[in-house]
Amino acid sequence: MTEALFRADAYLKSASARVARLTPEGGIVPDRSIFYAKGGGQPGDSGAITWDGGRCEIAGAVKGEGEELILVPAEEAALPPPGAEIEMSLDWERRHRFMRMHTALHLLSVVVPLPVTGGQIGAEKSRLDFGMPEVIHERDFIQARLGTLIAEDHPVTEEWITEAELDANPGLVKTLSVQPPRGAGRIRLVRIGAGDSPVDLQPCGGTHVRSTAEIGAIQVGKIENKGRSNRRISLTFG
Ligand SMILES: [Zn+2]
Repeated sequence: MTEALFRADAYLKSASARVARLTPEGGIVPDRSIFYAKGGGQPGDSGAITWDGGRCEIAGAVKGEGEELILVPAEEAALPPPGAEIEMSLDWERRHRFMRMHTALHLLSVVVPLPVTGGQIGAEKSRLDFGMPEVIHERDFIQARLGTLIAEDHPVTEEWITEAELDANPGLVKTLSVQPPRGAGRIRLVRIGAGDSPVDLQPCGGTHVRSTAEIGAIQVGKIENKGRSNRRISLTFG
């Protein structure tokens, strides 16, 4: 298995690891990873790895078998041999944009408290789709409320509950299209805001900024119709 270093510390920009194995397709399975594997609407991270006598650009990362994570080399390149010690480094600018966008989408799901039916995170633009038969808030309201939540600089923290606790509290799950990350009987919850009544609390396996002010300025796009009962809201930086 691959230890998900990005989950305990989303701010790790570099770390060492050992190559557990190479896949038949030319992917690299490390024993630990700072690269987030594509999932939950968040793209896999890019960057580079180096080892004794070699270097290889990493185009992305995907989930492998079980708890494995696979680094995908950018091009046909020499790969480190199994067992080799590697040094990983992230394309941090890109990842940090994903972290800011991802956290902004949590806040969007607070401003628009409707079931989330889909979503995608990008370095420039991100979106959530909502089960929203009628428009409940105009764009100006969403823009203002989102801006306030960002400016209030709420802390973003994680905690873990058991699968049984989640099953007893199904209301925690807002995103219908993405099942919460399960494994070893534990579920990771991401909390925005301190105290007994958090701004947001939901299962999530993604990477987030430490506090909402770090998201920076966000623009809400127009609300688009996507089918009879679905509406899409997009966010861009700026
Ligand atoms: Zn999240």
